[in-house]
Amino acid sequence: MPRAYIPKKDRKAVRKRANFCCEYCKALRAFSPTTFHVEHIIPIVSGGDNSLENLAHACGGCNFNKNTKTFARNPETGETVPLFHPRKDKWSDHFKWNDEALKIIGITLTGQLTIRVLDMNREGLVNLRKATKAIGAHPPRA
Ligand SMILES: [Zn+2]
Repeated sequence: MPRAYIPKKDRKAVRKRANFCCEYCKALRAFSPTTFHVEHIIPIVSGGDNSLENLAHACGGCNFNKNTKTFARNPETGETVPLFHPRKDKWSDHFKWNDEALKIIGITLTGQLTIRVLDMNREGLVNLRKATKAIGAHPPRA
C-alpha cells in the first residue's frame, strides 16, 4: 500500500471536520466545480504522515498551488515564513474577509504569503463567492 494512502473513514472524518469547505480558501465543496482532496499538510516526502493531525480538506486549486510547500519566502526581507497550517493555526487568526466577503485578506505575514502562494483570491473563487453569497451560503459559518 502506498505510504500516502488514507483510509476512506479518515477521508470522511477530514471532510466532516472541515464542514465540507476548503480549509484554506473556504470554498464550499457542494458548490465548487473543482475536485476536493484530503491533503497532507506536511507532505509525505517532507516527513509528514497520514495522521488526522496532518490532514486537511482542500479544494483542487489550493492543493495544486500548495503542492509540497510548507513555507514561503517574504519577498521584502527574504525571511522564510510558515504557510498557514490548518491544524495548528486558527483561520481567523491569519485571515479575514474584506467588507463584501469576496476576497480574503491576510492579517499576518503567514496569512498574506499563504494567500499569495495558494492564490486564494483567484477569479473563479471570487465569482463562486459572489454566487454563493447571493443564495446565503457564503461566507461559511465555520
Ligand atoms: Zn481552496
